[in-house]
Amino acid sequence: MNVNIEASAKDHGQLHQTLWEISQAAQRAVLPDAQSLARARATLPRSLDGNGIGFDATRRHILEDIVPALNHSSISPNYYGFVTGGVTPAALFADSLVSAYDQNVQVHLTEHTIATDVEFVALGLLVDLLGFDLEWQNGTFTTGATASNILGLACGREYVVRTALARKGVAPIKSVGESGLFEAIQAAGLSGLRILSTMPHSSLVKAAGILGFGRANVKDVSSKEDPLQFDLERLESELQRQDKATIVAISCGEVNTGHFATDGIREMRALRSLCDKYGAWLHVDGAFGIFGRILPDTPEFSTIKKGCEGIELADSLAGDAHKFLNVPYDCGFFFSRHRGLAMDVFQNANAAYLTGGKSEVQSIPSPLNIGIENSRRFRALPVYASLLAYGSSGYQVILQKQIRLARKIAGWVFDHPKYNALPEENDKQEMLERTFMVVLVSAKDDDLNRRLAANINATSKIFVSGTSWKGRPACRIAISNWRVDEDRDFDIIREVLENVVEMGDERVEHPTCR
Ligand SMILES: *Cc1c(COP(=O)(O)O)cnc(C)c1O
Repeated sequence: MNVNIEASAKDHGQLHQTLWEISQAAQRAVLPDAQSLARARATLPRSLDGNGIGFDATRRHILEDIVPALNHSSISPNYYGFVTGGVTPAALFADSLVSAYDQNVQVHLTEHTIATDVEFVALGLLVDLLGFDLEWQNGTFTTGATASNILGLACGREYVVRTALARKGVAPIKSVGESGLFEAIQAAGLSGLRILSTMPHSSLVKAAGILGFGRANVKDVSSKEDPLQFDLERLESELQRQDKATIVAISCGEVNTGHFATDGIREMRALRSLCDKYGAWLHVDGAFGIFGRILPDTPEFSTIKKGCEGIELADSLAGDAHKFLNVPYDCGFFFSRHRGLAMDVFQNANAAYLTGGKSEVQSIPSPLNIGIENSRRFRALPVYASLLAYGSSGYQVILQKQIRLARKIAGWVFDHPKYNALPEENDKQEMLERTFMVVLVSAKDDDLNRRLAANINATSKIFVSGTSWKGRPACRIAISNWRVDEDRDFDIIREVLENVVEMGDERVEHPTCR
């Protein structure tokens, strides 16, 4: 055995410093060059070396071969693909400790570790940050918004089927978790389950597939004028079909445009009362959009604030921490106002060795009974560290800069003769007020537009995601890194967009970097 774990352990003190130096040096580049990728690929072993190559050789291989072939999606402030966030210094510090101490945050054992307490408090700090009441401090950390959406739909499924059972007066079946979906929906006289939404994220549709709703049963109830806005009349007429138990899902931050599905407390009250009337569950996918709630109450941000207003009236909320909170992957969160319901769904039954001791503080549930996993990473610690270090005002400053940069770009694109700012609007001021931290752009010329994302990304100065909007290709510029700088980054983005227009039909084949 070639590996001396003791010897490698003493290097841990330098780990944070090393990671930090690597990330500083790499700030400017966005994608690895083709050469680095090819070299890294060639060095990957084809089989396991039985004796091991030792820690020193492994470290050299990783630093010299693998690291140059990683992208800088979290490290560079100019990576605008997907919504990747970054990693704050406090979060990086905490995350290194999470690996070093390797706590399993599974059962609340007050005499063994403080980890479950820290996780519970971190959820509370997040509830504070988002401006919710303490009734919302009922949830868990997940691997991301996809898992959080699964939790939301699973809790919602439990609730809506039970509501249907109660309305029919069926006694013996108490829960979907216990009796199974088939027996429960049959007893309730239901023909199935469905989700009513407007422009839901793909992960919500995936969750519908996993949980027995069926991807085909995610139905659009949008208005004719705007595919993201609810048509409340249409929603109500769908809800009147009582043969299907229903979850209504709100896209609080639509991933292509960054726009919001709802428009303030009045609409939220209307949605709430429709859900109450027809026994539906109201779920919010607020992966990145929910953080609009931390903005100050100023005219500059009033349209965004309206988009997240009244979310406290929902039943459940899915969010991401590895996006806007800038903690490392993977970290999402799930909250619900219904205390105890998650326990009925996710109860890890009949494992005596996995129960908390006599001193278990019942107000803190064991995470294994309220979420998918049993064994879990201490992913709450980076969230805890970053919130403690920077507070709500630190995060407010970051989000303001991101929005201001997005609006600078959106305004410039709007005025540009060769580009469209999407969704197309006539009124520039209105367009700007609606702009959150995503800008959706297309080129007016079809040929240029077809290659737009590829040509932008080939510069390796910035990275954008290609998507499509109303049948045409489009580019998403999603700003989610804490290192954002309005003026510096605007100049970089503008220059790239100008150059790509000047290049015209020229096709850039080989990405270069640095
Ligand atoms: C990113 C995102 C998701 C999925 O989140 P993961 O962290 O990738 O699991 C869900 N909904 C929305 C709106 C998102 O932006």
